[in-house]
Amino acid sequence: MSAQKKDIRALTKEQLRDFFVEQGDKAFRGNQVYEWLWQKSAHNFDDMTNVSIETRKMLEDNFVINHIKVDTMQRSSDGTVKNAVKLHDGLIVESVLIPTKSRTTACVSSQVGCSLDCKFCATARLKRMRNLNPDEIYDQVVAIDKESRLYFNRPLSNIVFMGMGEPLMNYNNVIKAIDKITSSEGLGMSPKRIVVSTSGVPKMIKKMADDDVKFKLAVSLHSAIDEVRTSIMPFNATFPLSDLREALEYWYKKTKNRITYEYVVWDGINDQKKDVEALIQFCKFAPSKVNLIEYNPIDDGEFQQASSKAIDMYVSMLEANHITVTVRRSRGKDIDAACGQLANKGS
Ligand code: SAH
Repeated sequence: MSAQKKDIRALTKEQLRDFFVEQGDKAFRGNQVYEWLWQKSAHNFDDMTNVSIETRKMLEDNFVINHIKVDTMQRSSDGTVKNAVKLHDGLIVESVLIPTKSRTTACVSSQVGCSLDCKFCATARLKRMRNLNPDEIYDQVVAIDKESRLYFNRPLSNIVFMGMGEPLMNYNNVIKAIDKITSSEGLGMSPKRIVVSTSGVPKMIKKMADDDVKFKLAVSLHSAIDEVRTSIMPFNATFPLSDLREALEYWYKKTKNRITYEYVVWDGINDQKKDVEALIQFCKFAPSKVNLIEYNPIDDGEFQQASSKAIDMYVSMLEANHITVTVRRSRGKDIDAACGQLANKGS
């Protein structure tokens, strides 16, 4: 029976209000139920104590409340927490809580598997099964916020869309989830504390600029030379660097937001002076920041983290060109929770 019932959280507040009016009830009832569903994260209609028993029964007859369930939780020696979350149809995605001294960050998934085929990423080996719904993205954040309060005595402070999936290939649902996360009727978090990380889908970057979004953008660049980038991120053949750059210029002109690039330096792939020069050229059109991220091995060693000498060369050449650069250490490696390691291994 329940398979035919609609997920009540797929309804907007307006639709819920209309539903109650159609039922001969007051539109205001829709507000109450909406608050239970989102602000109070009710899992059952029976939790909605300011709604009459008959109304709860009527809701039960018409709808289900689909919730994710934290299936397994692993804690790393560095404090990182990884959740494998089960979706209503049994599929699993992972999300990660990363604590530092000053903040706790949720790294959330946007798709089950991934649409893209980056050679160095474990998630790419799971084919894309489906997009996550807005509520499934939102629930990951709620679960991590709860864990943050429980284990670190503080609410979640930041969110990065760097888990499984390509957020810009599930754009509408990601936007809906962020609307909820930032709304006072949801978690009320500031969009400035949210980063959407993309491999670079030019059309969607332009759309984000047109939509005047308030969150931050990070681009997984890894190389500013087309042949190199295509060899490690094959979709670059479809969306070459010139298109990506044009879209980013458009984004910068509209938003005036600095662009962050995620970048791993690998031995024998992008560890030469010409690679850094190409990166500097690529970044020039807008204020940029380059995050040099540590490589998290996923297999038999086709990819190897470059030497510290190569990293130092990147840092000094970027700095000499007034490009902000940070060298980021991995977190949660011992539980396969670091960037690019999310592949449902523990479950
Ligand atoms: N699809 C999005 C978000 C998910 S990946 C994107 O590409 O940005 C999150 C980040 O982890 C990206 O910067 C990605 O390039 C990086 N990454 C993937 N595999 C990695 C690995 N094995 N080691 C380090 N970083 C990796």
